[in-house]
Amino acid sequence: MADKRDYYEVLGVDKNADDAAIKKAYRVLAKKYHPDMNPGDKEAEAKFKEASEAYAVLSDAEKRRQYDQFGHAAFEGGGGGTGGFDFNFNDMGDIFGDIFGDFFGGGRSRRASNSPMKGQNIRTRIVIDFEEAVFGCEKEIDVTIKDECSSCHGSGAKAGTSPVTCSKCGGKGQVMYTQQSLFGAMRSVQTCPDCNGTGKIVKEKCPDCRGTGYISSRKKIQVSVPAGIDDGQSIRIRDKGEPGTNGGPRGDLLVEVSVRRHPIFQRDGYNLYSTAPISFAQAALGGDVRISTIDGDVLFNIKPGTQTDTKIRLRGKGVPSLRNKTVRGDQYVTLVVQVPEKLSEAQREALLAFDNAMGGTMEKGAGNGSEGQETKKEEKGKKKKSFKDIFS
Ligand SMILES: [Zn+2]
Ligand SMILES: [Zn+2]
Repeated sequence: MADKRDYYEVLGVDKNADDAAIKKAYRVLAKKYHPDMNPGDKEAEAKFKEASEAYAVLSDAEKRRQYDQFGHAAFEGGGGGTGGFDFNFNDMGDIFGDIFGDFFGGGRSRRASNSPMKGQNIRTRIVIDFEEAVFGCEKEIDVTIKDECSSCHGSGAKAGTSPVTCSKCGGKGQVMYTQQSLFGAMRSVQTCPDCNGTGKIVKEKCPDCRGTGYISSRKKIQVSVPAGIDDGQSIRIRDKGEPGTNGGPRGDLLVEVSVRRHPIFQRDGYNLYSTAPISFAQAALGGDVRISTIDGDVLFNIKPGTQTDTKIRLRGKGVPSLRNKTVRGDQYVTLVVQVPEKLSEAQREALLAFDNAMGGTMEKGAGNGSEGQETKKEEKGKKKKSFKDIFS
């Protein structure tokens, strides 16, 4: 993957290109390198695939965002279903339909043939806690999975009978049409309408699968959620999708991850953000303050005279990288100096003494609750209690 070209470079557009520019650039390249235009030319085919892959990503807002953030790493599907990303050449039919629908006679027809085809991907979603996303976790999910029917071994034909070769397509599963296009007469291949591309016709259907050749059942699947996964990313579990056709491999299971919010931490990429309260005394005198991190509390030594809204960085207290979980982002903490809301008499005296030592900014009697009788009564009540607290 290291020598993969940048997708923007492949399409020859700049990083800020809008959807129309990307589509236009791809259209030009795809016409130039399309396999139908360059039969047997491997280099053209490779260029066509490269451009198609770039387009598949850049034309999808979410994929493009992830590509911009992680580069090609966003697509590297590691073993064990980690770090996967939803990209698959079998999904390209949608793009052909979109771009070439007008002159290729429906790109989707390219997908249909009786050569081995990978099965469709299945998509599902899990919701996990913030910490589970940061540190990774194991989850078990229920998925409906299709398997080959054991009664007919996937043929769809009733036991004792066999499917017969389709007479319309002669068993090829495809029929050829010739049509006029921008490039002159073009042959276009379409799925045989009689056998739906299977090349075979089932006369008597298997009763167990009603002729489909498949049986669906709920299965439990283990999902290894890699440390560092972010909200909206998907995990690819290979070969747990729909069965392939004509001996092709199964599709994949794509598990989209939704991450619950955390009461303390906000996440942006691999960094975490939080606020931590400190007392006025701590701010003025400096010293160790206790700060919550995703790994538990740590003591951080602040300078004397630390102002409110001071931002500190705790290196390596962020989220592990999906590619290498020993590499972690940082935590940025905003220190907020707390002003006490309720004061005991002793605390009040201390503050007044402090103020006095600072040159005395307080009016006499201020902070004594001068608005009215009720407050005064309350204060007196408090005073008694405070004296008791102090002298008992
Ligand atoms: Zn069956
Ligand atoms: Zn047929």
